[in-house]
Amino acid sequence: MSLALPAWTPPSAPIAGDDTQFPVRRIFCVGRNYAAHAREMGHDPDREPPFFFMKPADAVRSDGRFPYPVATGDVHHEIELVVALGAGGRDVPEATANDLIWGYGVGLDMTRRDVQAEAKKLGRPWCMAKGFDHSAPIAPLHPKSATGILADGAISLTVNGETRQSSVLSALIWSVPETIAYLSGLVELKAGDLIFTGTPDGVAAVQRGDRLVGHVDGLTPLSVEVV
Ligand code: MN
Repeated sequence: MSLALPAWTPPSAPIAGDDTQFPVRRIFCVGRNYAAHAREMGHDPDREPPFFFMKPADAVRSDGRFPYPVATGDVHHEIELVVALGAGGRDVPEATANDLIWGYGVGLDMTRRDVQAEAKKLGRPWCMAKGFDHSAPIAPLHPKSATGILADGAISLTVNGETRQSSVLSALIWSVPETIAYLSGLVELKAGDLIFTGTPDGVAAVQRGDRLVGHVDGLTPLSVEVV
């Protein structure tokens, strides 16, 4: 097959302790997956079915810098456990969903909150609130073979040394295998897909010069400066 344009290198994320990169195919994100965050956004955290939005694959950024985006004055941090898939499937049973996981990383679902609020008010899509350039800072991924299954560690974010978000993975409304099973009933999942699993409460605005450090137990921290 010949292409009309030169092919580009797939977006990728670094792998901890390895020179190779993890090729990123698509980025799926779960909305309102911690009850306390659903409440702070004005929603009843009853266990509704999970819902999803997406970011473009090339929104990933791993150089420790987050350029303050255009077209907003209210950019929020959302610290999240990121699940990287090494295999795909459709209608995957919850009982075998963890088999699709290649590994895990710490990520930020950066959000133009003012753009999102306007979209919610007008019933418009969230794409420009969530899927802007560089909106998915991510730390080096760790293979599941090294971490085991992550289900109950701590997740937190500090901004300039002060804790802003702090929770545990066991507080996820929809667990990782439940999320994979549900999502695979909506689309066929593929190797290279990333799933941002949702953020705990404590989301807030960032400013240029802020230093964000995200932690998930067992993973390399994500350190990002807003530039
Ligand atoms: Mn999020």
